[in-house]
Amino acid sequence: MLTDPTAVFGPLTPPPSGTPGGEADTPGQTAPGLPVRAENKYMQVAIEEAAAGITLRHGGPFGCVVVKDGQVIGLGHNRVLENNDPTCHGEISAIRAAGESIGTYDLSGCELYTTGEPCPMCLCACLWANISKVYYGCTIEDNQRIGFRDEKFDRLFGGREAFSDYLVCIDREACLKLFDAYEHMDRTNY
Ligand SMILES: [Zn+2]
Repeated sequence: MLTDPTAVFGPLTPPPSGTPGGEADTPGQTAPGLPVRAENKYMQVAIEEAAAGITLRHGGPFGCVVVKDGQVIGLGHNRVLENNDPTCHGEISAIRAAGESIGTYDLSGCELYTTGEPCPMCLCACLWANISKVYYGCTIEDNQRIGFRDEKFDRLFGGREAFSDYLVCIDREACLKLFDAYEHMDRTNY
């Protein structure tokens, strides 16, 4: 069993987490040693953020960026284990960072990119933040496959047919590679 994602990813660049970040001007640019490659440049940043998080054993393989007018204004990854905070999902981390970086709670006009389809808590957080559109990589079913309870909770809240225009799946294959690496790690699931 792999104990380190670098066995799959190669050496990772230091995490850019929590702060407004990199502009990722080169579409699909791949960090050194990180062969996972997304078509969408913002999803690529989210994957790299997630990879940094799992390397640090902060939590699950969920990285997220908030983008406004083509600029990344917030980055975050799952920090549930690091903070002993069950609400510290990647989307929540990125939304908090974005609000802080532009000095407002209103993220109207922003897009959010996340490696896994948002759970009901994070979907609601996106709505509360007025995020305009959510792009996700792996699906709720993929989240379930690697041991997360999203689907169970999603059923409690009636599914998400009402959000078919709001939630858009992109770059699933690239995000699945991230999930595969996580699945082969010696880890505490969260
Ligand atoms: Zn969540």
